[in-house]
Amino acid sequence: MSEEINGGPGPNALRNAMRIMGGEVRKMQKVARKRHREGLVKGPRSYCSVCGDVFDFAIVNPTEQLTGGICAKCKAILAEGFTACITSDAYAFIKSDYLKANGMRGKIVPVSVEAMEKIKEQQRKNGISDEKSSGET
Ligand SMILES: [Zn+2]
Repeated sequence: MSEEINGGPGPNALRNAMRIMGGEVRKMQKVARKRHREGLVKGPRSYCSVCGDVFDFAIVNPTEQLTGGICAKCKAILAEGFTACITSDAYAFIKSDYLKANGMRGKIVPVSVEAMEKIKEQQRKNGISDEKSSGET
């Protein structure tokens, strides 16, 4: 540091300055690259709590967490008075007087895997195709 005091910056000080500037430039390039990577990604912002579909596409930061919601498809079925029974990996829309009487119309109800099996079995017996009762998977 003595060079700076005695008659302007010496060769060491200049080298230091160049090194610092180089580091700044690299840092800026890194930020620009990062912005480019994160800023131009089109992806979903939400996932459906019922069918698991992702929706609400927008330019997003990919590191951002998806928020739970209900997709337009499931919303329409719920609006018809169906109840959505869900497990971690399956779902079924059902409509019954029992559910209606219990204020479950248009609601999302988590059920056990066993209960889901029974619902599916019942629907098969009633001749309701899986596709119709469960929405389009
Ligand atoms: Zn859905």
